[in-house]
Amino acid sequence: MTPKIYLDYAATTPIDEEVLKEMLPYLKDKFGNASSIHFFGQVTRTAIETARDTISRILKAKQSEIYFTSGGTEAINLAIFGAASAIRKETGKNHIITSSAEHHATLDSCERLQEEGFEVTFLKTSYDGNIHPSQVQDSIKSNTALVSLMHVNNEVGSVTDIESISSLAKEKKVLFHVDAVQSFAKYEIDLSKTQIDLLSASSHKIFGPKGAGCLFIRQGTPIEPIIYGGSQERKRRGGTENTPAIVGLAKAAELFHERRKDNFEHVSKIKNRCIEILKSWDTDILINSPSTNCSPYILNFSMNQEKYSLNSDSLIMNLDLKGIAVSSGSACTSGVMEPSHVLKAMNLPKERAERALRFSFGRGTTYEEIETALTILKEILQSSTRK
Ligand code: PLP
Repeated sequence: MTPKIYLDYAATTPIDEEVLKEMLPYLKDKFGNASSIHFFGQVTRTAIETARDTISRILKAKQSEIYFTSGGTEAINLAIFGAASAIRKETGKNHIITSSAEHHATLDSCERLQEEGFEVTFLKTSYDGNIHPSQVQDSIKSNTALVSLMHVNNEVGSVTDIESISSLAKEKKVLFHVDAVQSFAKYEIDLSKTQIDLLSASSHKIFGPKGAGCLFIRQGTPIEPIIYGGSQERKRRGGTENTPAIVGLAKAAELFHERRKDNFEHVSKIKNRCIEILKSWDTDILINSPSTNCSPYILNFSMNQEKYSLNSDSLIMNLDLKGIAVSSGSACTSGVMEPSHVLKAMNLPKERAERALRFSFGRGTTYEEIETALTILKEILQSSTRK
């Protein structure tokens, strides 16, 4: 029988049974609109505020600093558009610093702001996918309004030194937004100790429901809404709250955060075992994830182009036929497969970037699964060896 092995946890995760159980009453009997003053509304209002309290405790923030959104993408859009326009109005500053290795939620938002007259600096990552605080320092100008960087890169796993960057942003009076979609609840983030002004998080990377996320907005941070309507979320995000999703996000975050150390240890061992196996294949495999400052949840590597002919997409399709689900960061642009923009930003040779795969792990990933997946990958590679 074909195995079904899921190694794409950075793309999304299945919902945790406990999370689902917590959500179900809010999809059925506890259906009230949280803005209603009657009993049905009070029940959901209480659930939403309890969820806000849970998230604020995990991030060591104030309850009033957590704003629920429809996911990471919306949180990032609110942070970038909301803060950039508010600051430009207040101070005339119109320069944004980000990196070329960000998620498209950030890249595309910044490109849109360029069309609106903002100047954007896209920092190049170093060969290991990292952005160094000195690069940010060197790029800050008198008109810099905002720095927006991800904590953990979703394709290679590189970890940005957000503490140092937050201190220097504070010193230069520049707002700092962190896309923490791949690190929220997985890493300890203490917002009472860092100077981060805005932080985006998502639920479906941590066994919560899709379409749920939140933005931390430090008290006093200038921000304009991007969605207008009702006065929900203190007038910063109009629209009837998605109570089941919010409840699910908080439960997922609570569970993941509680098991944070065990999960981290487990995936670290799994990733190390993967690297050990890949390295035993002599020089055929090139690891693209950095060896230090890297998330244990993500491993990106490339096949040696001189030996193997298959590119990322053919590999993914071949693996899929054998029941193994993995990904690469390649994207289809005008009908042509383009290698990942992250690997491009890291300046990897095109041929190497075109042969990259991303394995991403979950708390349930077993040694047996990765050994089977790698045995199958090796068989596929052997059948595609260049003569
Ligand atoms: N930022 C990063 C780093 C991500 O990995 C993702 C999702 O893959 C997002 C943002 C977007 O989050 P969401 O899928 O919740 O909209």
